[in-house]
Amino acid sequence: MNANLFAALRAAFPAELDRTAIECADGPQAGQRYSWRDLERGTAMLANLLESLELPAGARVAVQTEKSVEALMLYLAVLRAGFVYLPLNTAYQAAEIEYFIANAEPAVVVCAGKNFGWVSKIAFLAGTQNVFTLNEDRTGTLLDRAAHCSDRHEIALKKPDDLAAILYTSGTTGRSKGAMLSHGNMLSNAQTLKDYWGWQAGDVLIHALPIFHVHGLFVASHGALLNGSKMIWFARFEPRAVIARLPEATLFMGVPTLYVRLLGEAGLNREACRNMRLFISGSAPLLIETFKDWQQRTGHTILERYGMSETIMLTSNPYRAADGERRGGTVGFALPGVGVRVHDDKGQPCGPEEIGNIEVRGPNVFAGYWRMPEKTKEEFTADGWFKTGDVGKRDAQGYFTIVGRSKDLIISGGYNVYPAEIEGWLNEMAGVAESAVIGVPHPDFGEAVVAIVIAKPGARLDEAAMIAALKAQIANFKVPKKLFVAIELPRNQMGKVQKNLLREQHQALFQ
Ligand code: ATP
Ligand code: MG
Repeated sequence: MNANLFAALRAAFPAELDRTAIECADGPQAGQRYSWRDLERGTAMLANLLESLELPAGARVAVQTEKSVEALMLYLAVLRAGFVYLPLNTAYQAAEIEYFIANAEPAVVVCAGKNFGWVSKIAFLAGTQNVFTLNEDRTGTLLDRAAHCSDRHEIALKKPDDLAAILYTSGTTGRSKGAMLSHGNMLSNAQTLKDYWGWQAGDVLIHALPIFHVHGLFVASHGALLNGSKMIWFARFEPRAVIARLPEATLFMGVPTLYVRLLGEAGLNREACRNMRLFISGSAPLLIETFKDWQQRTGHTILERYGMSETIMLTSNPYRAADGERRGGTVGFALPGVGVRVHDDKGQPCGPEEIGNIEVRGPNVFAGYWRMPEKTKEEFTADGWFKTGDVGKRDAQGYFTIVGRSKDLIISGGYNVYPAEIEGWLNEMAGVAESAVIGVPHPDFGEAVVAIVIAKPGARLDEAAMIAALKAQIANFKVPKKLFVAIELPRNQMGKVQKNLLREQHQALFQ
């Protein structure tokens, strides 16, 4: 059997190929519909183009373009032709692209036409012969060339362990690493999620996430494709435009900031969500307040799940009531077929509610970091579990809660402080919208706890009063030595708070 992920996705296309697979909701293609036949033909032509370049086996195709259906087709075509897809964040500038191209040595680079000058220079210097352009409005040399290719293509034969994609991590805790994912990793996870989230006939997904990351490219796109479901496709997230299309949809996936922005619109109500079946959140922690506000405004309980570039999805709150309730503040249970455990620093298992390192094993776990054998070895335990770098706990019923990343853990005066715990206390205080707790160097304590707090619109916060309130609630070593009220937290495009930037900013506070 062909283990090519594309073969499984293709097999799930509905028999009526003329039905709409993707409808563009915004941008230069607004109103444009792509049928399943268009996806079949478009991916065949692009796959034939790639094959005509006589690339070596395992060649990487690096792509930095704006979100478009053609960009999604290019991803599918790379799978289809058996090469390795390498998506790059659209925010990356020359220095970053230089690193990724030197690191991955792609045989093909596809970029936006407006960037061709500098991207092609970097690519040619690194020895890449093939540089194409692809724009949001269906123009560019990639499509020009593919137009001359046959629209029939036999899907390349692949084994489950064959490399399908290299996904660079978000770089939240340091330099991005390329996670090598196989066809088997992605298909097993996509099938598990299809069952666990109850994908069904008639589902329509609003796709408003970028497609250079696990969330938008794999979880969202694979989900819809593997279910033969239509996608309403947004090149950019704009809350009002999304709300206007909610009545036609059954599923929405977003990072927490998208939910916060949707809640900011008066049009978000039960009526708009009347046909929705499921709202899913992930990539960063969903505030309990957002979870509750959403319930109140829409009548829907957001399902929060947890994953990463190296493992795709590993835990999820349940979809079916019979499996349990969706519990805000938790990331749910280990997915079926995925082993998730909590171990202490000595490698001993933690009991229920005990905080430790989250580790994972299963068919979804990647083969290693691209060209980083040492790093790969370090991140696996002796018995073969991947160390996620996240710190958390499991309760007696099996719900996991993430309390932070091991790199964000603060050790103050010899005591462990878990940022998420302090953030939880702060977020509950009147007038607080959100917060970030970090550790910065301190001459006496090693590290000192510092909090950055964002006020709700119109609210006035008193730093000293907040510290005093915390002192009455938690142990003194956990109480921030300094608390700042700021306008906003630095976030990347996936809504992840960039604590490294905050640490840099407050580095010299006690020095
Ligand atoms: P890097 O590994 O380069 O530092 P990164 O870990 O942010 O970056 P990704 O693989 O994109 O890169 O993100 C995975 C991380 O996102 C997880 O390890 C976890 O910390 C966080 N995450 C994902 N989903 C959730 C969630 N529901 N709640 C809290 N954190 C989450
Ligand atoms: Mg990571």
